[in-house]
Amino acid sequence: MPEQLILVVEDEEAFIDALTVGLSREGFRVAVARDGAEGLARFDELQPDLVLLDLMLPRISGIDVCREIRSRSAVPIIMVTARSAEVDTVVGLEVGADDYVTKPYRIRELVARMRAVLRRTAQREGDGGAPADSGGDAIVVGDVSIDPARHEVNVRGEPVQLPLKEFELLELLMANAGLVLSRDTLIERVWGHDYVGDTKTLDVHIKRLRAKLEHEPSNPTRIVTIRGLGYKFERPR
Ligand code: CA
Repeated sequence: MPEQLILVVEDEEAFIDALTVGLSREGFRVAVARDGAEGLARFDELQPDLVLLDLMLPRISGIDVCREIRSRSAVPIIMVTARSAEVDTVVGLEVGADDYVTKPYRIRELVARMRAVLRRTAQREGDGGAPADSGGDAIVVGDVSIDPARHEVNVRGEPVQLPLKEFELLELLMANAGLVLSRDTLIERVWGHDYVGDTKTLDVHIKRLRAKLEHEPSNPTRIVTIRGLGYKFERPR
């Protein structure tokens, strides 16, 4: 199993040092953010396996960081609270933390809780049951996969970066794989029904997607044109 990445959002240097040493020793990789805003930025950048989130943080509170992460990810979150903050602990669980520990804590106890939460998450994913707060399930068609919740696309196992509209267009096509979608439907769903731009916009986006997805963009086998109707994402035969 590859080393799991833990994002530690914590502003007290003594805890940062102890966690960095202690968690590395337990076989985790550790990334540190020292305030709430940095925590959110590092979360988006690193996509960690678990977030260890202090409640009392400069700039953005742990509660708000937790709520914000939850709005875009089902990642396990363990909240860290001071002994006096029992009320906030409850709020922490309400905004989506999976568990909490109270300062001061032993690294051994913390690691036991982290492993328990990671195990539960792995089981949940293994069951195929998406967590209720996930933004959307990943769609896999042939060797292309798209994960709307994480804004990720993979082609033959390689990540592909797509701008927003190309991503939304691909998501719509893949969610309806095997079905023909008319030009009007695609334009309306991706750009909105009051879209007044050039209808060539759709063709340009299709062309860009083909350049990134197809073996031979000039002879597409995934995103195919259905003459007079629209486009279709082909299912593998
Ligand atoms: Ca703190």
